Amino acid sequence: MLYIKTDEEVGLLRKSNMLVSKTLAEVASFIRPGITTLYLDGIAESYIRDNGGIPAFKGYGGFPATLCTSVNEEIVHGIPSGYVLREGDIISVDCGVILGGWYGDSAYTFPVGEISDDVKRLLRITKESLEEGAREAVAGNRVGDISHAVQKRAESGGYSVVRELVGHGLGRKLHEPPEVPNYGKRGTGIKLEKGMVICIEPMINMGKKDTIQLRDGWTVRTLDGKPSAHFEYAVAVDKGKADILTTFEFIEEVLNKM
Ligand code: MG
Ligand code: MG
Repeated sequence: MLYIKTDEEVGLLRKSNMLVSKTLAEVASFIRPGITTLYLDGIAESYIRDNGGIPAFKGYGGFPATLCTSVNEEIVHGIPSGYVLREGDIISVDCGVILGGWYGDSAYTFPVGEISDDVKRLLRITKESLEEGAREAVAGNRVGDISHAVQKRAESGGYSVVRELVGHGLGRKLHEPPEVPNYGKRGTGIKLEKGMVICIEPMINMGKKDTIQLRDGWTVRTLDGKPSAHFEYAVAVDKGKADILTTFEFIEEVLNKM
């Protein structure tokens, strides 16, 4: 069942996704060497609750925290812990909220202090792959047009695309149909209609595409131990132009001041 949202419902999803965007910016202002990932989790939970939201990941399938924090070779679903961030790390912070019954979901991969030029390039190209994919979220296109755009940008940069995890529809549930893979062929998959709201979330590896799940039952990391980056937008499909419900503007204001 594919859910088509009314303009009013898209407006409510814009609010829940705005809360996620601002939560990630709040988290960004605390990211530095010496901070634990569990500390960041507490910052996010307080910010969400202070703004009338509920952390969406906490308890989802038994997940224990507000954020997924995935460091370096960890791709997604890392559990916040006593791990102390170090200069040169990267950390993917994935955040979900429920606001007024509607879900928000976004992720950003942050540098911790100074990072190498190689890893900077991985972050830049992963974010570009998201932006190029999001641009295809236009009524009349197909899911494969998004997938292809993401894959093309990532692979032309010399990187590989994770296959096991994909984007998804978003609404009154965190994960709705359709699935939105980060690889695929142009002109394939379901047709996009105005009012569909989807999360596009490329997970791009510096090395090979293969992954492994840790024994904690959650964390997914690269098999070859090389770094991976992850960025996520919630996007409403619209006529003529994608309506991106997430903004990285607040995050980047914080990062530019650091
Ligand atoms: Mg998601
Ligand atoms: Mg997410």
